[in-house]
Amino acid sequence: MAVSVSIDPDLCVGSGDCVRLLPGAFELREDLGVSVPLPGALDAEIDLLVQAAYGCPTQAIRVVAADGTVLHESNGG
Ligand code: SF4
Repeated sequence: MAVSVSIDPDLCVGSGDCVRLLPGAFELREDLGVSVPLPGALDAEIDLLVQAAYGCPTQAIRVVAADGTVLHESNGG
């Protein structure tokens, strides 16, 4: 099942937790000071994506299933 993953750049503090958990799905952009989802996020295990989202210290990650179900909402909505 394809998912949609986004990171609110206003909330991300660049902690790198998501990158350590799923290096194929997230990349820490040192130049921007935030993480961004990679194309590989679409192929990542949904459970791990949701785990990364819950583990984000600022709840910046939003994960939406292919059917539109919000699996994890970010604090930015
Ligand atoms: S875990 Fe959250 S705050 Fe840390 S880099 Fe990833 S999105 Fe940003």
